[in-house]
Amino acid sequence: MPEYPVYLNAYKSGKLKKTADALLASLKSCSICPRHCKVNRLKNKTGFCKTGALAKCFSFMVHHGEEPPVSGTRGSGTIFFSNCNMGCVYCQNYEFSQLGQGREYTFEELAKIMLQLQEQGCHNINLVTPTHVLPQILKSLEIAAAGGLKIPLVYNTGGYELAEVIGMLEGVIDIYLADSRYGDDRAAQELSCAPDYVKHNREALLEMYRQSPQAEFNAEGLIRKGLIIRHLVLPNGASGTEKVMEFIAAKLSPDVHISLMSQYLPYYLAKAHPQIQRRLKKEEYDQAQEILERYHLLNGWIQESYGEERFAGVNIKPK
Ligand code: SF4
Repeated sequence: MPEYPVYLNAYKSGKLKKTADALLASLKSCSICPRHCKVNRLKNKTGFCKTGALAKCFSFMVHHGEEPPVSGTRGSGTIFFSNCNMGCVYCQNYEFSQLGQGREYTFEELAKIMLQLQEQGCHNINLVTPTHVLPQILKSLEIAAAGGLKIPLVYNTGGYELAEVIGMLEGVIDIYLADSRYGDDRAAQELSCAPDYVKHNREALLEMYRQSPQAEFNAEGLIRKGLIIRHLVLPNGASGTEKVMEFIAAKLSPDVHISLMSQYLPYYLAKAHPQIQRRLKKEEYDQAQEILERYHLLNGWIQESYGEERFAGVNIKPK
């Protein structure tokens, strides 16, 4: 009988160690994300993500503001990693994602944080911006699993991923909380400095969906496995909502869970970009909801109060 979360099986079978070691070794000429910087991170050389051999974290906390099946009643054990493989000019976490605030943690220290969040009663470990520190996360997970970690991991990503690396996470990660930020590469390049974002994002989403086509929830409504796609609606149609939803409906499934986010504010360098230098208008969020309805994407969450980070219950209701 396979255990849950899946990483417990992977830990016992040795797959977790094998995957963690392979990814760690690949940092010698880093190609773990679409940027292929090919720097030797094991010698603390850094590429776009400005991260060397150890993961840097800004903070960790019990988080109650995620989607209802992630935060539940006891909160999601969230670890905010510093730095990022994207360069979003409007990043709301820019102090640590873009400016690198935080400190380095050893594998043992990171494992202790995971166990501490579990002790605090969190439903899961929520890895925010994990892509560039995936090998370090998996090495820490080995230690945490040996120490009794048994709550699921949430891979909470900006979605600029390599499908083959996501493929290596089969049998390790149960829950993907993945952004699909753009339907258009020009916007992805200008606003997130992410070449070929659309192609890489779509390939990664297809792989995540292949691993668990049917999201599963427990009796309390908490997600046990599967994919939730987040889409932050940007002003002036900059996020290409229609193209994103068209792809999801056609190539994944109308049953995929979608979190449609309205809380955009022009943080960080956004004021320099005319398209996104103001907050989102209510009409724009309403239009995005209409697009979801048009593509019959009615499984998921809208924000209860437009402009805030609270989510309404399951099922986007047709207006
Ligand atoms: S993880 Fe960092 S160093 Fe490696 S390819 Fe991506 S941006 Fe470059």
